[in-house]
Amino acid sequence: MLKETDPKAERAARLASTESLSSATPMIAQFIEIKAANPDSLLFYRMGDFYELFFDDAVEASRALGITLTKRGQHMGEAIPMCGVPVHAADDYLQKLIGLGYRVAVCEQVEDPAEAKKRGAKSVVRRDVTRLVTPGTLTEERLLNPSESNYLMALARVRSGGANGFALAWIDISTGVFRLAETSPARLVADIMRVDPREVIVADTVFYDDEMRAVFHALGRLTVPQPGVLFDSSSAEGRVARFFGVATLDGFGSFSRAELAAASAAIAYVEKTQIAERPALSRPEREATSSALYIDPATRANLELLRTLAGSREGSLLKALDRTVTGGGARLLAERLMAPLTEPKSIDARLDSVAHFLAAPGQADRLNTALKSMTDMPRALSRIALNRGGPRDLGALRHGMATARNIAELLEASDLPAELASARKALIGLPAKLIERLHETLAEDLPLMKRDGGFVRAGHHGELDELRDLRDQSRKVIAGLQARYADETGVKSLKIRHNNVLGYYIEVTAGNAGALTGEDARARFIHRQTMASAMRFTTTELSDLESRIANAADRALTIELSIFDAVSAAVVDAADAIRQAAQAVSVIDVAGALAVLAEEQGYCRPTIDNSLAFQIVSGRHPVVEQALRRSAGQPFVANDCDLSPSGEAGNGAIWLLTGPNMGGKSTFLRQNALIAIMAQTGSFVPAGSAHIGVVDRLFSRVGASDDLARGRSTFMVEMVETAAILNQASERSLVILDEIGRGTATFDGLSIAWASVEHLHEVNRCRGLFATHYHELTALSEKLGRLANATMRVKEWNGDVIFLHSVGPGAADRSYGIQVARLAGLPETVVERARNVLARLEDTERKNPAISLIDDLPLFAAMSRPPPALPPSDDRLKTALDALDPDDMTPRDAMEALYRLKGLAFEP
Ligand code: ATP
Repeated sequence: MLKETDPKAERAARLASTESLSSATPMIAQFIEIKAANPDSLLFYRMGDFYELFFDDAVEASRALGITLTKRGQHMGEAIPMCGVPVHAADDYLQKLIGLGYRVAVCEQVEDPAEAKKRGAKSVVRRDVTRLVTPGTLTEERLLNPSESNYLMALARVRSGGANGFALAWIDISTGVFRLAETSPARLVADIMRVDPREVIVADTVFYDDEMRAVFHALGRLTVPQPGVLFDSSSAEGRVARFFGVATLDGFGSFSRAELAAASAAIAYVEKTQIAERPALSRPEREATSSALYIDPATRANLELLRTLAGSREGSLLKALDRTVTGGGARLLAERLMAPLTEPKSIDARLDSVAHFLAAPGQADRLNTALKSMTDMPRALSRIALNRGGPRDLGALRHGMATARNIAELLEASDLPAELASARKALIGLPAKLIERLHETLAEDLPLMKRDGGFVRAGHHGELDELRDLRDQSRKVIAGLQARYADETGVKSLKIRHNNVLGYYIEVTAGNAGALTGEDARARFIHRQTMASAMRFTTTELSDLESRIANAADRALTIELSIFDAVSAAVVDAADAIRQAAQAVSVIDVAGALAVLAEEQGYCRPTIDNSLAFQIVSGRHPVVEQALRRSAGQPFVANDCDLSPSGEAGNGAIWLLTGPNMGGKSTFLRQNALIAIMAQTGSFVPAGSAHIGVVDRLFSRVGASDDLARGRSTFMVEMVETAAILNQASERSLVILDEIGRGTATFDGLSIAWASVEHLHEVNRCRGLFATHYHELTALSEKLGRLANATMRVKEWNGDVIFLHSVGPGAADRSYGIQVARLAGLPETVVERARNVLARLEDTERKNPAISLIDDLPLFAAMSRPPPALPPSDDRLKTALDALDPDDMTPRDAMEALYRLKGLAFEP
């Protein structure tokens, strides 16, 4: 939202003033009025074949799009900046603007120019905004990434009984998905990030609430504040019910007030942006946030699940795992990776599907071929429902539904696992009549735009066929007419042509014009136009024929459009069945793709249960392994990790991992976190074997970054993230900590790392991996029963270090930082000097061990220590104070007593 002091807002206010409006031309006045109603969007103002932008919008858009800024007339003594984009290429420009975070109001002519003319020569064609294009409400194929969902999310806060209730509603209008979930302040950002929305709307009162500042800072530019009325919880239920055309929501399930407020705000925003059109949304589905593995936002970003920290898909976990062949499958896989399950039974159901395809490679291959030709049905359906679809969208549904039936047949098997069996059921549930109707109605080759006509199959509609015959015959008749006129006039080059102004006309060169303007000819050939080198004529015969052709074409198009509308309505009626079938196809695609991946990469099926086990044998990092293979470098070295409870201990173990720089510590930490995520997503995992007791929360602190915009240094960010982990991790959690305390002085850092390990071991009692360069910490394993030391092995050879990348028990003796610095190309003199300094430091420490921490700092010493005894002088002070009786003292006595006490307090 623009602030009052914003110069742009000031200019906008001046532009909308009465004085400005009264001095503007009618067209500019219309622009100003529409712009004033849409201050947060760039206004695409339709003029003929262009969308034009004016004033500040033009300046901004020309800069953002790299298009020429021109001028058009004057307003209040100044030239009006203008730029424009052609309508046929508007999608490309929209895509760029949306990508840059702009919102665009598309303003169309909403009446026939002829109507406007009737009101007077100077009147302007009526125009109105027909659509707001925002990142979260896109439907166009060109604006959407087929493998990513495009969610609009509404965040609602409702006060009840003095407490705040929060809920989220998210809608993908390009597919019709509509979900709801309750959340809490602590989980808010994590729950929003899990869905990965493109746009989040929130009431402006919440947006500007100081308490919520951190949340909206974390979300950055995603959030768009909206008027509070959109979120009004008292009218929410009514609005949702109205949208779905039901009297009550009872049949949809039970929702909290906050959920209803969020759902209703999301719907209101969709209505606001789509203006007259109504998307085909599925009924809101409630999601229990507790059924998903909680991954906090920092962990999600650091583990690079959907994209890397730099923002690219290349190098992310998703990219390494994705073998899906349909857009819907890719979207489902991404969603599953963002919300792995915590229920062993549901995880096993997914794993069963993968195992099924691995065991039936022939069936999987045949299915794969069918899946590859699958169309994106939900997105085509949404465009149709929004009246933005064309014949090819109907064609996509025709092909998609037929393919879905084919997939159902290919999936024929008596022993289908439950997930695939129910997917097959959804495919069979597609209405056969509709599929047949689409086949009967639509031609094979379809035009992009319905207004071009020609998409209804020949033989489907009697009158349409007749009109088309007439049109085709007319062409022949015209050709015949041309031949006859050429013959009769003796002008061989005589042509009958057509343009939009004259319609059909006869054209001869200027030199031949005499043959048509002579005495006899003049009665037949009526002069229309004289050009520099040609003359144009018509005849009564030709005009009659022309109007017959035009009428036939008009009538044919009207028939085609009404057929289009009827079929579209039938398709929208079957929306639920189509969406369920599309979801089923996605489920099959994901299972098949994970089977392909498992086969190709040699992954194993993990054992998932409710224990606290975490036993990975020969685990690998899914992304690094593939990258190493591609670069044909060294093979990835597999490593074991066992954090399972052993003996009496009861809880899982924590490994303290030391080793040289570049040894592979971070890789090892991450690979175990990723294996847990993959397993709970329902994927096979890169390991020889894996037994994982379900993880409820995954925390990681890997990689350091600062957040200067929020006034947080790298160290501060690290501490905030560490605090979140120590405060929240439970015994079911998996915690991955890389180099805690690195960003401060050695002793500070070591102390913080030390205390954190103790806390994780004693209080959180979680399973964990802790990588560190503080070798002193390894001594802790003597005191902490479930703490084990592990190290990355290296070999030294001729003063150089060779990384073996294998993890073994024990502790590293040193960091090899100087060797790594040398490998990195630090000047030899610096490397030499560093070696000297290190030798001196190590020698000093040997002679005067500053820290023998393990003896000096017994576990939780700080907590168990009795309160410190008062120093002796305090005892004497107390005695002296006791002896005083203020009621019995003169001011002078009091003065003396004060001096005495002061003396006592500061005596040694
Ligand atoms: P630092 O302490 O400097 O952060 P590190 O110990 O965390 O280093 P990593 O970043 O995990 O080291 O790994 C360094 C490089 O070694 C990686 O880029 C990767 O290519 C390679 N590497 C790590 N683990 C393995 C492995 N198991 N097999 C093969 N190569 C590996």
